[in-house]
Amino acid sequence: MTITSDIMDISKLESSEFKILKKQIKVKTFLSSLVEQYSFQIKAKDLEFNLTFTENCDTVTLFTDEDRLRQIFINLIGNALKFTSNGNIEIGCTKKNNSIEFYVKDSGIGIPAEYHDKIFDRFRQVEDANTRKYGGNGLGLAITKSLIELMDGKIWVESEFGKGSTFYFSLPLTP
Ligand code: ADP
Repeated sequence: MTITSDIMDISKLESSEFKILKKQIKVKTFLSSLVEQYSFQIKAKDLEFNLTFTENCDTVTLFTDEDRLRQIFINLIGNALKFTSNGNIEIGCTKKNNSIEFYVKDSGIGIPAEYHDKIFDRFRQVEDANTRKYGGNGLGLAITKSLIELMDGKIWVESEFGKGSTFYFSLPLTP
């Protein structure tokens, strides 16, 4: 199911068939609903889940596609959960001059520096296919990056192997 819908997303994104339906979204309500959505899974893994608003970003109303924004967070939080076995996951945002910066941070396995760019390519995974212990198809971040670019934003990662990862993405504030 996941791989089929991922491949459909990739081909739609490539053919520019992917439509963006913008509407007003209150950032505070949106992020709080994600915390609620994941609270059970996070508790089941005995992790902590934090939500942090910086520079008044809780007062921001964004004009963007809510379903796509949710899809981006679902991919990033899903990975954070998958690659973290203890500690915490934090989501949040920072208000900048003309943009808003979101992040998903985890205290998981981390990503070696030489993979920081490569993981956004299709089917690229840090672990070798033969020795993998985590599920997944290597398409999530490629889709996430394309979605963010379609929304005129950008994505990047800061991570140290063994010490956790933070995925950041920014979206413009002006419609
Ligand atoms: P998938 O998770 O299905 O393998 P993704 O495209 O979402 O595919 O991610 C690609 C790869 O990037 C993952 O296989 C993993 O090696 C690495 N990765 C992504 N997110 C994280 C994370 N939060 N912590 C550690 N590694 C990660």
